[in-house]
Amino acid sequence: MTDCLFCRMVAGEIPADVVHETDRVLAFRDINPQAPTHVLVIPKEHHRNLGALAAADGELLADVARAAHAVAVQEGLVTDGGIEPGYRVVTNTGPQAGQSVDHLHLHVLGGRGLGWPPG
Ligand code: AMP
Ligand code: ZN
Repeated sequence: MTDCLFCRMVAGEIPADVVHETDRVLAFRDINPQAPTHVLVIPKEHHRNLGALAAADGELLADVARAAHAVAVQEGLVTDGGIEPGYRVVTNTGPQAGQSVDHLHLHVLGGRGLGWPPG
């Protein structure tokens, strides 16, 4: 039994609107979307943030990145090999960045113009 929200979603204890899944990665729609497409991509294994996953398992980090791109293609945000119309990948680390779930997740955002700099 874990108190990590995303581990519990991986375990099927909390429902997830899954859009993409592999043996090691899960992608599901954010419950509070900030853009027409807002999908979270996570490793099924628990790692608390980007630095922790990069240190522990670079291959799994590459799997997560590939899944983020696959979701963007699937959602029509880019063609495979193309860049248009485009999408953004964000991962927040720590309180000042607004990280609220301590299980690494990439936000895949698109479907509208995205301002820069971010808030
Ligand atoms: P962050 O604030 O960067 O840690 O991102 C956590 C994200 O998880 C937020 O965008 C939340 O809206 C999202 N979230 C929280 N609970 C759920 C849930 N049960 N299903 C899907 N997304 C969730
Ligand atoms: Zn977890």
